Amino acid sequence: MDFGFSDDQELLRRTVRDFAETEIAPHVRRYDESQEFPREILRKAGELGLMGIIFPEEYGGAGLGYTEYAIAVEELSRVDGSIGIAVAAHNSLCTNHIFQSGSEEQKRKYVVPLASGSWIGAWSLTEPTAGSDAAGTRTVAKADGGGWVLNGTKTFTTHGSVGDVVVVFAVTDPDKGRHGISAFVIDKGTPGFRPGKKEDKMGLRASDTSEVIMEDCRVGPTALLGERGHGFVDAMKILDGGRISIAALALGMARGAFEAAAKYAKQREQFGRAIAEFQAIQFMLSEMATRIDASALLIHRAAWMKDRGMKTTRESAMAKLYASEAGVYVADRALQIFGGYGYVKDFPAEKFYRDVKLCTIGEGTSEIQRLVIAREILSSL
Ligand SMILES: Cc1cc2nc3c(=O)[nH]c(=O)nc-3n(C[C@H](O)[C@H](O)[C@H](O)COP(=O)(O)OP(=O)(O)OC[C@H]3O[C@@H](n4cnc5c(N)ncnc54)[C@H](O)[C@@H]3O)c2cc1C
Repeated sequence: MDFGFSDDQELLRRTVRDFAETEIAPHVRRYDESQEFPREILRKAGELGLMGIIFPEEYGGAGLGYTEYAIAVEELSRVDGSIGIAVAAHNSLCTNHIFQSGSEEQKRKYVVPLASGSWIGAWSLTEPTAGSDAAGTRTVAKADGGGWVLNGTKTFTTHGSVGDVVVVFAVTDPDKGRHGISAFVIDKGTPGFRPGKKEDKMGLRASDTSEVIMEDCRVGPTALLGERGHGFVDAMKILDGGRISIAALALGMARGAFEAAAKYAKQREQFGRAIAEFQAIQFMLSEMATRIDASALLIHRAAWMKDRGMKTTRESAMAKLYASEAGVYVADRALQIFGGYGYVKDFPAEKFYRDVKLCTIGEGTSEIQRLVIAREILSSL
């Protein structure tokens, strides 16, 4: 057993940290306040290989694994969770679904521009009435003249309004339940396909979250992604990878909040001494640091297994559950350490507090992770 990262992985961490601190940090507050989608930053992330980090070089990717991917998402999120979630949704949801389920032609057409960061990808499963119960999808795709006609509304899609390509899920065989849901890949600008309302969120405000609307959206037969009726089953496998990145997103934000709070605690003086000298503050820092380390260990176990082709349903859900809850805890304690200054925007604590909460909701809530873990445990007995 080896708990260290390789030299290359450490170099990647330093490179992404440097990129985040130089290119992202100066703009974080502006992005947050204006809800501006940082397209230029993602283009630069593409130049670093981060927009296609887990895909083979022959498809324009960086040819790295989930361990490196988790390191990169963590480092971006340590500075700005909005960039972290953008890279995560783009890589492990949209692009990976096309890479895993797509035909060679679809991979060439979509994965190559997505992996370079020239295109932005979205993955649209959730509907207004089908969230945790994603198999309750109501969007329909009817076979028509060799192609398909899609109708329905998706909600909460990351990159729903800025995405160049969107993977959507629709019912093709209503009598087959979850085995009657298929995935489609749809290009921006396809007639009948448009973004709807852009959400005004409490956190991760520079990340674009929008409705996706299909009204008699006609696509050709090549828009079907993977086998007919396999969309939902494929989506669940995609989430096994995605959840590692949401855990890394939470870890990065926890680390950012912790570092800011620890530094502040050593500088801020009350009652004639640094507040870091009070045991109450030390206990908070100890608990925060321990939960951060536990999160990292769960994340890198799941990533290690994924990189070896092992099934990670249980481990990804555990990492996501633990790291996201730990992230919320750490951000809350960080804000407390900052006192009144934690509550104002001149300091980073309040933003981490708002941003990290998403991690207990997106890609399956904490309650759903517990259901997944329990199902995996019980079925293995
Ligand atoms: C910022 C943001 C980005 C997102 N990005 C995407 C994206 O890119 N693509 C996409 O498809 N979706 C995306 N989502 C949607 C996200 O995955 C869903 O919000 C999430 O799965 C929960 O669904 P819901 O919001 O409908 O909540 P609901 O399913 O309505 O849940 C409400 C509450 O009930 C609980 N609950 C539900 N069922 C059970 C149960 N069986 N047992 C116990 N408790 C239960 C939940 O845990 C939760 O506490 C995003 C959401 C947000 C906020």
